[in-house]
Amino acid sequence: MSRHRITVVLSQAQGKHPLKRALEESIAAALLLEPAVELSIVPHLYDLDENHTGRLFLEGISGDMVVLSWMYPRAAFWLLDRDGIKGRLGESQITKQSEADDEEEQPQPPKGIGATDVPDRWIYCLDLRDHSDHRVYVDEVKRIAAECQARRASRNGTPLLQLGVAKPSSNGFTPEQLLTPPARRWYPVIDYSRCTNCMECLDFCLFGVYGVDSLERLVVENQDACKKGCPACSRVCPENAIMFPEHKTPGIAGAPVSGVSGLKIDLTKLFGGGDALAIAAQERDAELVKEGRQAVGLTVGIPKRQAHKPAAPKDDLDALVDGLDELEI
Ligand code: SF4
Ligand code: SF4
Repeated sequence: MSRHRITVVLSQAQGKHPLKRALEESIAAALLLEPAVELSIVPHLYDLDENHTGRLFLEGISGDMVVLSWMYPRAAFWLLDRDGIKGRLGESQITKQSEADDEEEQPQPPKGIGATDVPDRWIYCLDLRDHSDHRVYVDEVKRIAAECQARRASRNGTPLLQLGVAKPSSNGFTPEQLLTPPARRWYPVIDYSRCTNCMECLDFCLFGVYGVDSLERLVVENQDACKKGCPACSRVCPENAIMFPEHKTPGIAGAPVSGVSGLKIDLTKLFGGGDALAIAAQERDAELVKEGRQAVGLTVGIPKRQAHKPAAPKDDLDALVDGLDELEI
């Protein structure tokens, strides 16, 4: 009788930060001893293009999966969805150290258009920045493996007691193939649980990054046409649905939206408000000029809902963003 193992993917940090590598190695060493776990290690998820072996490996996983990465879980989950690695979002029980004493906020019901073609499997995303103790992650992976096992058993009517020894690995790739270093990338990731398909980002971006699929849904069509380091369209989105996982500002990098609101700041200044649009237009102009094109300011692709609002000076938003960065959440 074979026992189902859960696939765990450890996505390495960019660069060679020694503390990050040490945590990754401690987690890997512990998980390799777990019979209910099949562990694979890939480079940073965000950098994997469609031809990378790590990406091909991820696409070949059909069952439940745990992904440990140096990104907010929301960003990791929707990044995988964009790459066709889809599933239902599993809930982690890890609480970030600094948030453990915060009051729990009520989750908001999703109002976005949601993902398409979601298979009946679960994907759990854990953020490696939440804890420095590898045991927190190992315990959570074991808990998730048991949760998935129980879910499968109840679905199949298979008594848990009949489940036996682990099956051999079916990964098919060598660690060297999986860990081929990819080039760094920069592109937006859409959270479809929040995206309402308003198309404001499509109108705003003048670099051909966004498009529409056969279902008339907004998609990131040309990922690598995006301008490195620029988060302009994330400020334009009225739903905070556009994430740049490598941006230093948590609200842009994919921090939980309820957690960000806990900062008690006016998020309309960061996302979708008059100030934000002024900054976004300046960021977009800078990229246009770098390409030898004309700056357009607020004359092209600006949502009509903001047309009556005066643009605030850039200093206000800069101060707000700097304040957020200093919080190091
Ligand atoms: S602006 Fe935001 S909500 Fe509107 S289509 Fe783009 S991602 Fe979706
Ligand atoms: S950051 Fe700029 S180039 Fe990239 S998708 Fe947004 S508007 Fe387009």
